[in-house]
Formats: sequence, C-alpha cells, structure tokens
Amino acid sequence: MKFDTKVIHGGQHHDAETGAVMPAVFQTSTYAQTTPGKPVGDYEYSRASNPTRTALENALASIENGSRGLAFSSGLAATDCLLRSFKAGDEIIAMDDLYGGTYRMFTRIYKDSGIKFHFIDMNDLDGFRALINENTKMVWVETPTNPLMKLADIKAISEITKAHNILFAVDNTFATPYLQKPLDLGADVVMHSATKYLGGHSDVIAGALVIKDEKLGEQLHFQQFATGATLGPMDSFLVLRGIKTLSLRVQRHCENGKKVVEFLSNHPKIKTVYYPGLESHPYHEVAKKQMKDFGGMVTFTFASGKKEDAISFLEKLKVFTLAESLGGVESLANHPALMTHASIPEDKRKEIGITDDLVRLSVGIEDAEDLIEDIRQALG
Ligand SMILES: *Cc1c(COP(=O)(O)O)cnc(C)c1O
Repeated sequence: MKFDTKVIHGGQHHDAETGAVMPAVFQTSTYAQTTPGKPVGDYEYSRASNPTRTALENALASIENGSRGLAFSSGLAATDCLLRSFKAGDEIIAMDDLYGGTYRMFTRIYKDSGIKFHFIDMNDLDGFRALINENTKMVWVETPTNPLMKLADIKAISEITKAHNILFAVDNTFATPYLQKPLDLGADVVMHSATKYLGGHSDVIAGALVIKDEKLGEQLHFQQFATGATLGPMDSFLVLRGIKTLSLRVQRHCENGKKVVEFLSNHPKIKTVYYPGLESHPYHEVAKKQMKDFGGMVTFTFASGKKEDAISFLEKLKVFTLAESLGGVESLANHPALMTHASIPEDKRKEIGITDDLVRLSVGIEDAEDLIEDIRQALG
C-alpha cells in the first residue's frame, strides 16, 4: 500500500456489526466479562486499551512502518514513557537543539534519576562515537529541530547505534511520516507530538510512540498501561481523522513554506532564513537524502538583530496568529526565546543560536498570497 492510501486505510477496517467506516468514539472505561477474567471481547479496562485508541494506534503503526503504535495524552507523555526504560547509571546521548519541553524533562525531571544526559552536535559523528561507552543506552534525535531546523543524518547515526546495540529514537514531529520515515532509515522508535501535524487542526493535545520491534512495543505498552498517560477516545478519534488528510495537508504546507521562504530570502529586513530546502542551508544535502520535501516550518532573523523588530513584526501579523504550537491548518508565528523555548536557560539559548530576533513560522495551508501579503505588511 502506498503512503497516500495508508493514511486513509492503513491498519483500519470498517465496523463488523454496523459497517461504520470510522470507529465509534468508545466513551467507556470498562468492558463486560462473561465469567471472572473472561471479557466478552478483546477489552478489559480503557487504560490498558480502548477500541478507538486501538484504531488510532494501528494507523500510527501503519504510516510509520512500525510493528506497534501507542497513543499518549501528550507528546511529552510519550517521551516520558520511553525514558522509564532506563535506570541510574545509564547514559543517553541527545541532540543539542531540542524542543524546549524535551530538554526541560531531560534536565529537570530526570535530574536526580541517575541517568546521565549528553547534549551534542549529532552531525559530528566522530564526537558522537567518542562519547559512546558500555553505559550508553539510547540516542535521542530530533530532525529537523525546533526551531533552528538543524538536521541529523538518521541512517548514518543508526549504523553506529546498531553496531553498539544502542536504542535509537527519533522525534519525527516536524517532518511527519509523509516527509521522513525514521524506522525505514534505521531508527528503533519514533516519537510524535500528535498535537502538531498528525492531528493537524490545533484541537487536541496528543502524543505517540511507534516501535519497530514487537517485543519492545509490548514492553512499552506495559509501561504505558502501568503509568497511565493514555489518550482518551475522543482525542484518539480526532487524531485518527487528522491523519486521513496528512498527505494533502503536508503537500500544501511544503508549497506554501517554499513561497514564504522565497519572499523572506529576498527581503532587505531579513538576515538569515533557516529552511532545509534552501541550497545554502548547512544540512540541505542530508535533507534531500532523507526527506521527501522540506515542510512548512520556517525560522528567520532580522538584519537589525533587534528583539524589538521581531516583537513588532509579531504584533502586526493579522493572518498569522501569534501563538505557541505548530503544524495546524492555520498559520502560526512564535518568538522561541520568549515563548516555546523560554524554559532553556538564556546562556544555553545563545550558545545554540536561539537569539532574541529569531522568529519561527508554522506556515499553514491558507492561500500563499494572503500569507505573503501579511508578512509584507507586518515587516512594514
Ligand atoms: C510540541 C512538541 C513536543 C511536545 O509535545 P506535546 O504534545 O506538546 O506534549 C515534542 N517535540 C516537538 C518537536 C514538538 O514540537
């Protein structure tokens, strides 16, 4: 089955009893049993599993080419579930440019866990290799990264993690499986903030893990069941519905993203545009190799370098909404240093390049001319 068919039919079947094409929203906590320990069907209690969530999880496994999908109450809950696989003394190597909330979890929630985190430039493969020791248990990569659009070469990293028997997880939120399939490229686990492109309509907070290996999928399902951050039936329904139009939406995000990038790149008030589709982008070759297209996330800085210029631009936007989050049908604009990445200490932010004149756009699927006109007027 091709991907555009999978987003609609992958792992799905109509309801045997009614013929319903979409699963019902099974708003139930529990399920009848005929005799103690013998449920009528496959379900016992909705923290363990729920038919609407199962439908979503089967779709997730299908579109990421994994053996198992798990749906969580948020992206961070998905990450947290995976992190519970590790214990004191284990070491995790992560990329140095991460979603702020992921960085906050690693450095603050797991601070006293005894797990040691390293944050490195994952493009320096020799530096990466040099850090590996017998305690290295996982590599965590986000590509492209939020907000600087750095990339990591998934295949090259996976060759190293495989040789050392290290689990390799990729946050695929920005790219989506339409653009990039980490499990096919050698990763073991894919994580999503399904709040973003998978849901696609800014109406739900949700997360996902998709696992290649069945046994690990079983173990992570146990961890999810035993800790409880599962996705409710209504939210599962919404994400499943969102996935049906993923291909169409991401195609349009890419088209509009390119047009916005072209406009910004030629504007005298703009200094640097960060977009993996630009030939000048330092990781353009990696992007071409592992992504089908370049997405709708665009980050840029001002020629003046001034925070005030970024803020004035954001205040003047009319079609773009100034808001956290990304990946919905509507265009959003964000000031990472003051908003999404405020949880990263200032010196660390400066070190990785999240300056005060940096603006991140989630280019939506509106008419590109309206979006460009909006940016033009806001730049004054
Ligand atoms: C939003 C986001 C997360 C966190 O997901 P939530 O659904 O907000 O918990 C993780 N990674 C990336 C890249 C994100 O954009």
